[in-house]
Amino acid sequence: MNRFLMNRFCLPVVATGVFLSCAGCAQRASDAETMQTAQAAPSAPKVETHAGLNSTLWVQTAVEARVSSLQAYKLASLQLDAALKNKSWTASTEQAARPVKEWHRLPPAILLDIDETVLDNSPLQARLVKKGMDYDSMEFGQWVYEAQAKAIPGSVAFVNAARKKGIKIFYISNRARNEEAATQKNMQRVGLLKTISDDQVLSRFEKVSWQSDKTSRRRFIADKYRVLMLVGDDFNDFVTGAKTSLEEREKLMLRHQKMWGEKWIVIPNPLYGSWEGSVLDFNYERTPDEQLKEKYSELDTLEIPEP
Ligand SMILES: [Mg+2]
Repeated sequence: MNRFLMNRFCLPVVATGVFLSCAGCAQRASDAETMQTAQAAPSAPKVETHAGLNSTLWVQTAVEARVSSLQAYKLASLQLDAALKNKSWTASTEQAARPVKEWHRLPPAILLDIDETVLDNSPLQARLVKKGMDYDSMEFGQWVYEAQAKAIPGSVAFVNAARKKGIKIFYISNRARNEEAATQKNMQRVGLLKTISDDQVLSRFEKVSWQSDKTSRRRFIADKYRVLMLVGDDFNDFVTGAKTSLEEREKLMLRHQKMWGEKWIVIPNPLYGSWEGSVLDFNYERTPDEQLKEKYSELDTLEIPEP
């Protein structure tokens, strides 16, 4: 999955200063001369920016970002007692499809995603923005190896509160199997894992059937545990078939509307995700310019069509 897919583009900033200074000249020169002067300016100021700049800044600097995550984890914590008490409660659609008697006595568990759900990779995003780069697997691998990601606000407190109630914690991640050692080291460092072991982190392709779609891994846990809650930043952390059109995603979201905010908790992630892939029809073969055009075409301006 292209977790950090972004388009880099340059935005020529309108040379406001040029126009203002020309306004002062207007009494001495014709409009035509003024425009010629502006156009002939040897180096019109331009600012190079990056498609990921604002979202990265929001994650890293906005109190609104931190509060959004804290709110989500607070909401998750508030559901724990009810989820434990109600033995027919499950957050797994894979489990719900089976008779309650098959799973109501199973020990309780919570499934969390890792990237942008419990670990904050925005420093990697910041590096890419500063270097003017798109997602790069080498950069991602280096970042994982450094194992210095901070915890998403609220995540450690939530995981600890669940543990104290006797709930088992599992992490289902699309990080690769060979990234798991460094990932676990990072998670232990910030308090998301008590010990390094193989059974709590379920990486992509750790088993042959564990594809980037997380259904098979949810089912694997649901065979042994009653799943109280799913926590993630991407639609794929909750449903089967998130990799589809915007229209189908909308329908799928509505089909499960009772789950959101109760059994399914979403952590905000404006940096990347299947939402972006869906805008691009999951076609990453196009050039950055073509992808940018596709994104612009999805903007909804609600303009009233001219008669
Ligand atoms: Mg994630």
